[in-house]
Amino acid sequence: MISFEMTDEQKQMQDVARKFTRNQIIPAAAELDEKAQMPVDIIKGAFEFGLWNLNLPEQYGGMGLDHLTEAILLEEIAYGCLGVCGAWAGNSLGLTPILLAGTDEQKQRWLCPFGEAPLFAAFCITEPNAGSDVSAVRTTARREKEEYILNGVKHFITHGGIAQMHVVFARTGEPNSGAKGLTAFLVPRDAPGLSVGKIENKMGDRASHISEIIFEDVHVPVRDRLGAEGQGFKISMQTLDRTRMCIGAAAVGVARRAYEEALEYSKQRVQFGKPLFKHQAIAFMLADMATEIEAARGLVWQAAWKMDQGDADPKLGAMAKLYAGDAAMKITVDALQIFGGYGYMKEYPMEKLMRDAKILQIYEGTQQVQRMVISARITS
Ligand SMILES: Cc1cc2nc3c(=O)[nH]c(=O)nc-3n(C[C@H](O)[C@H](O)[C@H](O)COP(=O)(O)OP(=O)(O)OC[C@H]3O[C@@H](n4cnc5c(N)ncnc54)[C@H](O)[C@@H]3O)c2cc1C
Repeated sequence: MISFEMTDEQKQMQDVARKFTRNQIIPAAAELDEKAQMPVDIIKGAFEFGLWNLNLPEQYGGMGLDHLTEAILLEEIAYGCLGVCGAWAGNSLGLTPILLAGTDEQKQRWLCPFGEAPLFAAFCITEPNAGSDVSAVRTTARREKEEYILNGVKHFITHGGIAQMHVVFARTGEPNSGAKGLTAFLVPRDAPGLSVGKIENKMGDRASHISEIIFEDVHVPVRDRLGAEGQGFKISMQTLDRTRMCIGAAAVGVARRAYEEALEYSKQRVQFGKPLFKHQAIAFMLADMATEIEAARGLVWQAAWKMDQGDADPKLGAMAKLYAGDAAMKITVDALQIFGGYGYMKEYPMEKLMRDAKILQIYEGTQQVQRMVISARITS
């Protein structure tokens, strides 16, 4: 039998995250959004508070949480601000490949520093001409004796250039070798030849940093190759199969915030002689929101629970991201509608929630890509 009851420990941690969000994230969110600033102080606070490195095993100084607890906490953090939560999601994306494919020596050397200070990790696959089609990556890694020489450009990289560790996917095979020609490498921020290009000015999710990274003759020792040559595509897909659940959890947080704001407002705002929520059209919108949030959370928790059984299910991960991301987009649009003209103004949190929600349908594989993942598994 499966229980949907949280354990006492999970309830306690949820409470801690909720207080952290209320005290540290919500008061700072509007300014971080306005200035497009990384929440560096909040991350430092989270590290000291014991709310950082959620999925990093304890042996490397992390919290070593199970995925279900990770989902519960990410929902709380994203409730405060999706851009701030991007720091957690970005690190999960950057650290998972090494947890999956690193040798013991690589894990010791690259992961232990993350337990000692609030550091960032980056997952670098997207390029100007390789977005949904990862097999089109053009960045090259040429082997010369005991080193690889990396050349190319990555873009839209969360924590790009500010990360201590960049997991870089580059082509070791022939130019037309497709997915089979990709290999993963671990590259530090201060590697000579690594530079930061354009820092993106985004519509939403503005408290997260994404940038272009340029590799010009970056020398990477063979010992920093992650997995064997040609395994890069597999490592990247296995990573996304696990981290999409985190995006689903963040989406539930954004959706819940929009719904709760709208519910509260609908009780205060009186039109035609009664509060908005007493008009059936508004009450039904709220009923749909509440239902979609429960359904989305159920899928996210199921995907997380499956991973905790040691059996990540790519289909469930994609379903969780797809459903929760679309629910967050729809709910933020409808919640803003309940605020009417006020929702369109910057004084209220609704327009930010709506701008933020859009990214949930794009990164870590667009919603079309999620449907490709799901349909490939239900039709094979
Ligand atoms: C805020 C943000 C953070 C990001 N962080 C990272 C990161 O940390 N690391 C990283 O590597 N990348 C990152 N990305 C990149 C992101 O993963 C890509 O933007 C995304 O995968 C889509 O690629 P694209 O933008 O090139 O769109 P394209 O692939 O060009 O797609 C354009 C449109 O066509 C659709 N489409 C494409 N192919 C098909 C098809 N076969 N069938 C149907 N529809 C299709 C897409 O769904 C989309 O709607 C980030 C992007 C953003 C905006």
